[in-house]
Amino acid sequence: MAVGGCLLHHDEVIAENMSKANSPYHRLDLHAEMVLLNELEDRLCDDKTPRMRDYTLFTSQEPCPMCLARICFSQVGKTYYVYRDAHSIEAGAQTNYERLPEGFQILGSRLVVEEADCSPKLKEIARQVWLNSIDHCVDEWLERY
Ligand SMILES: [Zn+2]
Repeated sequence: MAVGGCLLHHDEVIAENMSKANSPYHRLDLHAEMVLLNELEDRLCDDKTPRMRDYTLFTSQEPCPMCLARICFSQVGKTYYVYRDAHSIEAGAQTNYERLPEGFQILGSRLVVEEADCSPKLKEIARQVWLNSIDHCVDEWLERY
């Protein structure tokens, strides 16, 4: 899947990466958000009070429920996404965050998880990249059954 992102500590970009869920082989846990949070948690492995509220995660696509659960567990302070596919049948009116089980929403109650305030042109690029990759990925997953 063509989803990318970056992590900031205050205003400094400290990591950039992308989904590794389908390449070089199936690691469907490695969405872009997971790759970035793995990197951050490895960096912070010896820090008992890492002040996760000082970190911001940006992604090109609205995080899926798996990644949102991880975001809630990790307590990364802010998450902004460029594109939300609000028009698909799966998306519906609620965001993925709003559809999380209550326990996750309680865990994430201090966090910011919102659509980024960015240009319509950038949103369209993120949308096109997403739409160009998702059908192929779903077909590939279903063929694995
Ligand atoms: Zn995800």
